[in-house]
Amino acid sequence: MLKSTMADRPLTVRAILEHGARIHPRSEVVTSAGDAVVRRATYAEVAGRAARLANALRRLGIGPGDRVATFAWNNQEHLEAYLAVPSMGAVLHTLNIRLAAEQLAFIAKHAEDRIVIVDASLIPILATFIADVPGIEHVIVVGEGDAAPLGREVLRYEALLAAEEPRFDWPEIDERQAAAMCYTSGTTGDPKGVVYGHRSTWLHSMAVTSGAIFALSERDRVLPVVPMFHANAWGLPYAAWMVGAGLTFPDRFCQAAALAKFVDEARPTVGAAVPTVWNDMLGLAEAPDIGSLRLIVCGGSAVPRSLIDRFHERFGVRIVQAWGMTETSPLGSVALAPIDLSEDESMAYRATQGRPAPGVELRIVDDDGNELPWDGEHTGEIEVRGPWVTASYHTREGEADDGEKFHDGWLRTGDVGAVCDRGYIRISDRAKDVIKSGGEWISSVELENALMAHDGIREAAVIGVPDERWGERPLACVVRADGDAGAAATPEALGAWLAERVAKWQVPERWAFVDAVPRTSVGKFDKKVIRAQHAAGELDVVEVTR
Ligand code: AMP
Repeated sequence: MLKSTMADRPLTVRAILEHGARIHPRSEVVTSAGDAVVRRATYAEVAGRAARLANALRRLGIGPGDRVATFAWNNQEHLEAYLAVPSMGAVLHTLNIRLAAEQLAFIAKHAEDRIVIVDASLIPILATFIADVPGIEHVIVVGEGDAAPLGREVLRYEALLAAEEPRFDWPEIDERQAAAMCYTSGTTGDPKGVVYGHRSTWLHSMAVTSGAIFALSERDRVLPVVPMFHANAWGLPYAAWMVGAGLTFPDRFCQAAALAKFVDEARPTVGAAVPTVWNDMLGLAEAPDIGSLRLIVCGGSAVPRSLIDRFHERFGVRIVQAWGMTETSPLGSVALAPIDLSEDESMAYRATQGRPAPGVELRIVDDDGNELPWDGEHTGEIEVRGPWVTASYHTREGEADDGEKFHDGWLRTGDVGAVCDRGYIRISDRAKDVIKSGGEWISSVELENALMAHDGIREAAVIGVPDERWGERPLACVVRADGDAGAAATPEALGAWLAERVAKWQVPERWAFVDAVPRTSVGKFDKKVIRAQHAAGELDVVEVTR
């Protein structure tokens, strides 16, 4: 074999940090302080503070492989931890601030967190579980705020940084070493830990910035609304830093009105969030000025075509759907339109989950694990593998790996769909959400998309409920829009609307009109809660005969 002559330099977060700091020192990091007030810092300043943080952490005893947790909003300090912790060889563990205390305690213990960096506003939540995690040696508080509820001594972030030098002798790091970890939200069983490597993070960042995905450059300002505890804010902080794009962080001000104001102030060019965030923005009484956005990245759950259309019509802003998982770093696929089609024709492709990103291999398999053809018809479970796709979950000594989630080295995603001959994926459901009615499958995603295209509907989630005759039937849980359009959205009218868009036998008989669809810890519609509400008889269900 002829060996390559190329140097084997490691692909690391340290390399991302140093490149961004040296080549783009004037790029900006903007954080919302609410009410159109913002804080600004340059990359040079942030890098200096990241070095100070690394010095402080080392002084507190943090060394290679040690876990440093964050319990924080999307802001500059969180970015400093993103850069400092992996670059010093330690492991960043982003805790999901919206999980229940019991789950948080489990996760922090399982990850063996030694330090938590907490935003002062989140102290009351940290206080609900910290006593159950004896391994946490230090708490570092960002911002002013009473730490008394924690019942222990804390360290103050700014005081720690002020006492240190803005330089750190970053160590050489093996690119296969852990850089960061994130737990899945665990719909069944305990949450599972995914450990990102330096190499996987570097490669993922390159992919995200590439022309095949979002074409990020220093001309951009990136707005990650997606939390930094949700799959590393979809990898955007590292990707942006790598190319010197500005970063604009909403901090805790993520409600539609506050976010719209922040967009107006910080003028981001690329925004990223789950569909519910953008859907809420459509509901604002006063149309916001979000025209600075050249692109909105939307994913985490299926993006209704109506959302894409409305953003285009109302704001002239392009929504691009992406698919991925915590397990895939998370970029798996992106729905950029084929270039040889008209605007109209390409919409059908933009409303799919898109094509696999370069670097991600994807296949669909039937129940027996046989690979299915990419013809847009054959439907099966989606499996992926690649250098930023996890091949196992984090286990502690004595724990068994969750082998069921893997198949011959491929990750079983639990998503069911078909792929067309051009490589565009159409997900019809999570495997556990598919509705089996009289032996036929009904796609809840298809029903939801069709419902959300109706003027009188603001939100829609469809679940399968037991039915004597058919085994299972769909129940549509919907939030009506205000005004006449909402009032006209009766079960009969909605049934007729659906009958023009899906097979008639798929039209639900059962309807629940609610004030809000429950959401998960990362802002997706929470079908688990809807199912539980239905089982407990808490939903007011209207039944129409067909
Ligand atoms: P999480 O790890 O919390 O990000 O959840 C990953 C799951 O979210 C995937 O397995 C999908 O079920 C779902 N998901 C993510 N993006 C999309 C999308 N664009 N369309 C449909 N489902 C999606």
